[in-house]
Amino acid sequence: MARPEDSAWAVSVAQVASRPGQTKLIDAVFPAPSGIGDNIIGVREGADVSVTGSFDSIVDGLILTAHINAPVQAECTRCLKPIERDWGVDVTAFFPYDSPEDSRNSKEEVDIIAGEDESEDTYPLSRDGAFADLEALLRDTLVEALPLQPLCREDCRGLCPQCGIDLNEHLDHHHETTDLRFAALADLKAQLEQEERERNA
Ligand SMILES: [Zn+2]
Ligand SMILES: [Zn+2]
Repeated sequence: MARPEDSAWAVSVAQVASRPGQTKLIDAVFPAPSGIGDNIIGVREGADVSVTGSFDSIVDGLILTAHINAPVQAECTRCLKPIERDWGVDVTAFFPYDSPEDSRNSKEEVDIIAGEDESEDTYPLSRDGAFADLEALLRDTLVEALPLQPLCREDCRGLCPQCGIDLNEHLDHHHETTDLRFAALADLKAQLEQEERERNA
């Protein structure tokens, strides 16, 4: 079985977990967990994610207050240009002390608690309470923070709906010719008028 400290996202918290009122500063870089976003927008697995903040111990657990910074890769929703920029998000999460006996005795109860915990940004410590694993926290937090409509810049002009040219690079771009659909209608109209003239002649 994998040891908790072998996780790439393990943070040793044994020093602060011993009694309330302790603070452990954290300033570290972790690999981005898998599953953050998709091809359109996301954080590439293994990319550097920095976490700065602190673990503070209270009576029944540890509170993590941190700023997470990750490189987000995206595609501008207007002009489809690739975007790569750092994305920062603040997070507060709770790591309750969990007595190992309880976990073993009542698996079902733990599941229920875990279900409740998700909505409160609560994450388990390792069995012995010595490590906090940040993988799930990083994934959840970053997935939630991804912008829904990423733009390369606020005033991106997007692509020409007719020919797809990037309007940011061609500010004067427009089409002289009438839209083909209108051209076809104009032809039809001319033809009908011609027929009418011939009938009336
Ligand atoms: Zn754009
Ligand atoms: Zn065009």
